[in-house]
Amino acid sequence: MAKYIFITGGVVSSLGKGISGASIGKLLQLQGFKVSMLKFDPYINVDPGTMNPYQHGEVFVTIDGAESDLDLGTYERFLDVYTSKTNTNTAGDIYRTVINREREGDYDGATVQVIPHITDEIKRRFAALKDECDISIIEIGGTVGDIEGLPFMEAARQFQLENKKEDIFSIHVTLVPYITGAHELKTKPTQHSVNKLREIGISPDMIICRTEYHLDESLKRKIALFCNVRQDCVVEVMDAPSIYYIPEALYKQKVDSLVMEKLEIMSKKKFDKAWFSKIKSFSKFSKTVKVAVVGKYADLKDAYKSIDESLNIAAADLKVKAEIDYLAAEDKDLIKKLKKYDAILVPGGFGNRGIEGKIKAISYARENKIPFLGICLGMQCSVIEVSRNLAKLKNANSTEFDESTKYPVIKILDEQKNVKYRGGTMRLGNYKSEIKKNTLAHSLYKSHEIEERHRHRYEMNPEFVGALEKAGLHVTAYHKGVLPEIVEIKNHPFFIGVQFHPEFGSRLMRPHPLFKGLIAAALKNKKN
Ligand code: GLN
Repeated sequence: MAKYIFITGGVVSSLGKGISGASIGKLLQLQGFKVSMLKFDPYINVDPGTMNPYQHGEVFVTIDGAESDLDLGTYERFLDVYTSKTNTNTAGDIYRTVINREREGDYDGATVQVIPHITDEIKRRFAALKDECDISIIEIGGTVGDIEGLPFMEAARQFQLENKKEDIFSIHVTLVPYITGAHELKTKPTQHSVNKLREIGISPDMIICRTEYHLDESLKRKIALFCNVRQDCVVEVMDAPSIYYIPEALYKQKVDSLVMEKLEIMSKKKFDKAWFSKIKSFSKFSKTVKVAVVGKYADLKDAYKSIDESLNIAAADLKVKAEIDYLAAEDKDLIKKLKKYDAILVPGGFGNRGIEGKIKAISYARENKIPFLGICLGMQCSVIEVSRNLAKLKNANSTEFDESTKYPVIKILDEQKNVKYRGGTMRLGNYKSEIKKNTLAHSLYKSHEIEERHRHRYEMNPEFVGALEKAGLHVTAYHKGVLPEIVEIKNHPFFIGVQFHPEFGSRLMRPHPLFKGLIAAALKNKKN
């Protein structure tokens, strides 16, 4: 069975198409269907791996090493599934495929054009997972009317024409703004946006309206009439205290039933509402722990989306609320500010900015026995910190920041030395590590062998392992016995650094052991 749900967006960007898609996916999964999600981003970058997080938020890494859009993370967490390279598509990657094919002479002398060659490749990718699931949810990034988005919209139009009407459900997500002066919700932007979509030849089956206030029936009727959709298919999504409330909000408006009706499919199992109740229980915790994330992008939470989610999920599992603050590593008053926190996390990152601040924060956590988790660059900074302050290797550094350092305790991976292109060339995706017994890592993972996602070019220099172990920093996991993957300090309530990215592995009902360990230690360390 191949059924498709297309999600497009209108009026403005950042309306949460990904969250709407993942929520509908969740409902259909609870109805017993196998759902997959494909993201199509109309920008020219081959993937978001080279983009500044300020532009794009976090880069989510799939287990097979794709550097992808953060929506795939939302999707993995909502549905507890794994995505792969197939789930993430960009205009850049699609054009590259077509151009490579042209260079190989596969187009047989034809003039290669947007229609049909680019649109054919997009359509091929729309159907890429059709044999692996019951329903593919296809999200087209950007906003209707964008120049770059046009080939994707055109491909979606053709795809509808070439498939049976009961196999396609089209959803348009728009904004219904509230005009304070007039005390009124306005439908005009939605009307214009749907008109634009219909000009392209796509008539939505459902309109999801992002709104600050409830839409009354008369407003829904107006949208339905002007936009040529059924009134019960005008659905509202209000801002919620947590994105995990959205599936239930959509369920109450019968979104899953409406989708199944049009797609002519019947529920495969009794709908289990346990997921909704579990989410509701999250809001009832009164106890809190305060976690400081010391990073570079302190004012953009989306840059650390999976870390944020992982901390919240772990806290909810321990029946507490995580109060997470993002502190700028460059802040002169950083150490003063850190005093009120029960735990400190230093996340991954690239480049020199803020490094010394991160190292100071780690000294503070180590000396004051504050629970600490270092992720990727955060782990590398903990190695630098211990090298300088305990092993007395003066000015020890990573060669990423000081190429001529006397003590290169972090150095470039051998396989990275001759890498010329920046995009997609890091050590990416899942790699195995073997954890030593009687270590913090072993007690958290309860396993000897683990597999975690990576995204880095540098590693802890094995030449310094001996000196650092003597100074008190122990390597407690290795990849293939050679690449250090986890470091720990004993005689500390919780001090652990990992070369990989555990944040991508957290699931709503399955918190990640490292985050759970951090929050549990934070609870013990609680200041007040
Ligand atoms: N910049 C470091 C490296 O490339 C760390 C990368 C990261 O934190 N993802 O090794």
